[in-house]
Amino acid sequence: MTIIGAGLVGSLLSIYLAKRGYKVRLFERRPDMRKETISAGRSINLALSDRGIKALEEVGIMSEIRKICIPMNGRYIHNADGTTAFQPYGKQGQFINSVSRGELNKRLIDLAERHGAEIFFNHRCESIDWDEGTITFEVADLIPQTAEFRFLFAADGAYSAARLQHQLQHDRFQYTQYYIDFGYKELNIPAGVDGKFRMEKNALHIWPRGNYMLIALPNMDGSFTCTLFFPFEGEPSFASLNTKEKVKDFFEETFEDAVPLMPTLEEDFFMNPTSSLVTVRCYPWIRENRFALIGDAAHAIVPFFGQGMNCGFEDCSVLNGLIEKYGDDWGNVLLAYQELRKPDADAIAELALNNFIEMRDKIADPKFLLQKKIEAKLHEKYPDKWIPAYSQVTFSPTIRYSEALERGNKQEAIMRDIMRRKNIDENWDDDNLHRMIISQMNS
Ligand SMILES: Cc1cc2nc3c(=O)[nH]c(=O)nc-3n(C[C@H](O)[C@H](O)[C@H](O)COP(=O)(O)OP(=O)(O)OC[C@H]3O[C@@H](n4cnc5c(N)ncnc54)[C@H](O)[C@@H]3O)c2cc1C
Repeated sequence: MTIIGAGLVGSLLSIYLAKRGYKVRLFERRPDMRKETISAGRSINLALSDRGIKALEEVGIMSEIRKICIPMNGRYIHNADGTTAFQPYGKQGQFINSVSRGELNKRLIDLAERHGAEIFFNHRCESIDWDEGTITFEVADLIPQTAEFRFLFAADGAYSAARLQHQLQHDRFQYTQYYIDFGYKELNIPAGVDGKFRMEKNALHIWPRGNYMLIALPNMDGSFTCTLFFPFEGEPSFASLNTKEKVKDFFEETFEDAVPLMPTLEEDFFMNPTSSLVTVRCYPWIRENRFALIGDAAHAIVPFFGQGMNCGFEDCSVLNGLIEKYGDDWGNVLLAYQELRKPDADAIAELALNNFIEMRDKIADPKFLLQKKIEAKLHEKYPDKWIPAYSQVTFSPTIRYSEALERGNKQEAIMRDIMRRKNIDENWDDDNLHRMIISQMNS
């Protein structure tokens, strides 16, 4: 088994395959991150939730990963008027986890090696010869190397070189990439004295500001990594904030309570890259019975549902179930993998794009908060009949993404009508209203 990319998904996949007794080789373009420092400014921490956790548990490594997780029980909203509010993510006891991308990747690489996978760093996939079954790698300071493969997985991320090789030599390959008009930049809130957290530790902090937002996730060392999601062009935008003074003035006016916590704001703003956000959809994901795309290489999505990695980990788990079912019949394993995962990847791509509007805009809107309150009540009273869309995606790994999208859309349509009702602010907790909503859901 050959895997291109020892990122989050490639490393986890190698553990799954090694545990099944396959001999696994991983080729990674970067140097070994356990020995080198990774560059700042690229999603330093991620939210790991139940789908990802389920996949990690399945191969018995979640206890190891849990050691580097910080539970986040809800959103901590920093409103423009200076007030703050805490919104739990789900029911009591439900939470998502902040985890360092670098630490997680390093542990997965360690675990992959411990399970017998062989990893070749500094190997950048350049081309694939499908007839010969060979891959050519550019290897730092050396002449290009060629490796043979019997079975190949492309786990080399959103800008996958292996996908491009597949695409270039495939009739009717479907491919779209869609960039939103917003980019992101990482900023930093350092730890306080003695490594103390300077804001609530167990929360995902959000400063929703209509068209844009700032978020912050906690790190193990007491710091927070902030991400500004912001328009590329217009007023205000990355283009318009072009001097340190403008950055300082803008932040002081817009994110007033964050500024005193960000002593290196202006430096970070101009040192750290501005990165773009892409959705990649493509098809087919497989080639005969010997090649498959997985993780971001198959389905890159925007990060607003915190699901990209979780979805990639779920790919590994689904694939594992199919190997269990079909054994070494890779033709059937791959066909079923593609058939199951493609609609789910398309669904989470759509959900993630929609969630940007919810995070940056709606969560500060009292009407939206009332809707969420009604939905939480419905979930409490009818836990199997009404599950808020966020919970379906984040806390219900048995519900497929495509099902979550469909059910979520139906619920949203019902709630849109309910929220138009007169006096809903007073009647929201009425039993008859709740029964009526549930009957509409069942119809
Ligand atoms: C700002 C931001 C925030 C995010 N937040 C979350 C979150 O909270 N929760 C979540 O679940 N997801 C989140 N994501 C998504 C998540 O980062 C990705 O879905 C995840 O990293 C995908 O893993 P992957 O292994 O498929 O790809 P990657 O992590 O991109 O790994 C690909 C690997 O392939 C290697 N590679 C690339 N090209 C080659 C080549 N030619 N040859 C050899 N190797 C190669 C790369 O060096 C890398 O190691 C976020 C993404 C962004 C941008």
